[in-house]
Amino acid sequence: MQRLVAVRDHNLGHLEVQVAQDVQELQRQALERGAQAKAEATPPRCPVCGQPLSRLSGGHPRTFKSRFGSITVQRTRGYCKRCRRWRVPADAALGLEETAGYSPAVQDLAALLASKMPIEDARAVLEHLTGVKLPRATLDREARRQGQRAQRLRRQLDQEAATQRRQLELTLEPYQLILQLDAWDIRERDAWGQTAALRRAGQEPERWHWVWTGTCFRLDQRGRTAGGRPIISERGFVATRQGLDALREQLHAEALRRGLGQAASALVIGDGALWIWRLADDRWPQARQRLDFYHAVQHLAAVGRALFGEDTARLKAWLKPLAHQLKNQSAVKVIGQLEEALAAMPAGAAAQAVTKEVAYFHEHRERMDYRAGRRADQPIGSGAVEATCRQTQCRFKRPGQFWSQTGDEALLCLETFWRNNRWHLLFPHTAFDPARN
Ligand SMILES: [Zn+2]
Repeated sequence: MQRLVAVRDHNLGHLEVQVAQDVQELQRQALERGAQAKAEATPPRCPVCGQPLSRLSGGHPRTFKSRFGSITVQRTRGYCKRCRRWRVPADAALGLEETAGYSPAVQDLAALLASKMPIEDARAVLEHLTGVKLPRATLDREARRQGQRAQRLRRQLDQEAATQRRQLELTLEPYQLILQLDAWDIRERDAWGQTAALRRAGQEPERWHWVWTGTCFRLDQRGRTAGGRPIISERGFVATRQGLDALREQLHAEALRRGLGQAASALVIGDGALWIWRLADDRWPQARQRLDFYHAVQHLAAVGRALFGEDTARLKAWLKPLAHQLKNQSAVKVIGQLEEALAAMPAGAAAQAVTKEVAYFHEHRERMDYRAGRRADQPIGSGAVEATCRQTQCRFKRPGQFWSQTGDEALLCLETFWRNNRWHLLFPHTAFDPARN
């Protein structure tokens, strides 16, 4: 410290780096001693079935990377007759089972950073913030391993949500549950190395795949910022590449965790995509359905373009009162006006386009109850899920990125644990506050 103080162009930052370096070795030693004591205190029982182990032998070293550097622990090994496998109970007690030699804190950091940013950035940020050095490929592998663990935990939690009749919460006011669905596409490089063979067979390898997403929240948990913008304090989020059935079951479980079972009613909001309404009919047949208002207006604008072509001034003058009417009065009135306009059009491509749009409004008429929705202070758009999709895409849709299905599902799963405030279920130490203990 004396030496550093004398260096003229060193500031407090340099002292901070030096102090961190000085204590690191002490921390490493303290951790190693603690880990060893914990290993020795672990009873020689099978961590899977609880059976006492036989043929015990001590002194099996394992070295792993921790937050403060590498530490080595001597562990006891034994045989479980029931599982017919060799077991190391200390590994389970220390949280070292599903890892390639990284401590839970390093697993947590790798999983979090890799799910938030490209691997090369994650590697650099990890080293900058913590001094933990992990090669890029190792960081990637460890994050995916933790993501796969997250997927298994998600399955378990979802099963619990579906089968447990949770105790009825006493709620003072009946509440509504809002569900919003959307999808975005991700680029994958499956059939890796087989492109030429596939093309010879006359097949084009599929690159883009849907990520199915959904969000759910209680309407009474939606507040407003000082500026009047709606914010949702408690919101569940799911995202999966494993198809519509996976989305349906994951979102249903999430909705149950967020109180669907006790809700007075449920409302599903989405854009015009057919799969959304099919899924809603199938899973939540009692729920009301609403078409995202912005999408309805886009279809009004399509009619306007058929009527006025490039004359954007007339298009705008026509569209504005109609959109206002749709929002504040009724869809039936708007459809009446569209039909009037259609009747006055000469036959041709433009009339065909308007015919299609009129059919669209008829199909979704029941889903355009915007006036009632606004009066009940419900959302009339699917902005909440769309905003979340955009944020998630910032990570998963970068230029030049290709994913594999196992890779993206693992990281998407980590992202949902983080967003749903369930990270501590994966990494229990992150909910531990020594100051309160
Ligand atoms: Zn066992």
